[in-house]
Amino acid sequence: MAENQTRRSFLQNLGVGLGTTAAAFTIPSLVSIPESKPKYEGKKLGIALVGLGSYAKNQLAVGLEQTPNCYLAGIVTGTPAKAEEWMKKYNIPKKNVYNYQTFDQIADNKDIDIVYVVLPNSMHHEYVIRAAKAGKHVMCEKPMANSVKDCQEMIKACKDAGVQLGIGYRMHFEPFTKEIIRMSREKVFGNVKFINSNFGFTIGDPTQWRLKKAMAGGGPLMDVGVYCVQGARYITGKEPLAVTAQFGPITDPTRFKDVEESLSWQFDFPDAVTVNGFTSYKTNIEQLFATYEQGFIHLSPAYSYGPIKGRTSQGELNLPIVHHQANMLEAIAREFQETKMFPAHISGEEGLKDMKYLTAIYEAAQTGKKISLV
Ligand code: NAD
Repeated sequence: MAENQTRRSFLQNLGVGLGTTAAAFTIPSLVSIPESKPKYEGKKLGIALVGLGSYAKNQLAVGLEQTPNCYLAGIVTGTPAKAEEWMKKYNIPKKNVYNYQTFDQIADNKDIDIVYVVLPNSMHHEYVIRAAKAGKHVMCEKPMANSVKDCQEMIKACKDAGVQLGIGYRMHFEPFTKEIIRMSREKVFGNVKFINSNFGFTIGDPTQWRLKKAMAGGGPLMDVGVYCVQGARYITGKEPLAVTAQFGPITDPTRFKDVEESLSWQFDFPDAVTVNGFTSYKTNIEQLFATYEQGFIHLSPAYSYGPIKGRTSQGELNLPIVHHQANMLEAIAREFQETKMFPAHISGEEGLKDMKYLTAIYEAAQTGKKISLV
């Protein structure tokens, strides 16, 4: 029985068999990743990265070297020296290199199937809409945008253009995360009662865009707090009903002139589930803890690039360590090749929901009131 259970867990961690039970969850079903990787004979999907900063360079481009079904086909950058470097490194032809002025010409480029926007948060809105108007499917980094209105406009632009829109929620594809979602869904420890979800780090350069409200939309809540909101949603499979929140003290006025330094919030979820969230640019912390009627799960690290580590009241979780971005991009490519759609659980509508919750957390902290979400 133990062996059967292990194999079952293993298969489920690869996504096999998750499709049907997941339907009851508000975050739509997780993508099925086949157990073995058949050799792919069709056209690889060409991805163009827009913005060649830290995440594009150190994570996405590296991931795209490991994906059988998609590859780095093009780049969009405002820096000619970067264009030269990337063309050489990734063998990208000059015709697939754009800057922010020539970007719209990507419409005529058959090599590019998906445009992946990896710019500062305030720029997601413009570039997702321009990519959609160019007739390209679009992936957009988190947080989806800086306002609910921007998210709605991005969704509309993609619908109008008949293109797919996905948000880069890489944890949805990550084995430890998928396992705790399965355990929650199958009520291995009964019903969830309480969740504690934190993500914070010590921020460096005081001049960076992440500390400017106009570009970042806010502070750590927008940047990493969004993972905690996601964590609560994928553990419960439900949507929050109300929220209270409090800004933490400013201990570093040089950095935190414009955005919050830290923030705590409390979500009421259905069935009397309480979620405590905390995010900070001055505290290194990262965990997702949930107690259930008969046990607990604890991931820490829970959201960064890993290796993710976890244990439950049954013991250590021992699961494959994956490259998050390769794993996500390959899963999206396979789903798209099979269905012509991106996985529903990373849709623009999901990004919009998170944006509504982030906005409500700020409103609760600013007003001191409990904000209803229903
Ligand atoms: P970054 O500052 O390293 O890169 C931003 C890029 O945008 C740079 O190449 C910069 O040249 C370019 N850019 C173009 N116009 C700009 C302007 N006006 N001001 C500033 N930069 C400009 O940032 P990053 O860490 O790569 O983050 C980019 C996006 O990716 C953000 O939305 C962030 O939230 C997201 N991100 C996601 C993850 C994840 O794990 N999913 C991790 C890191 C970042």
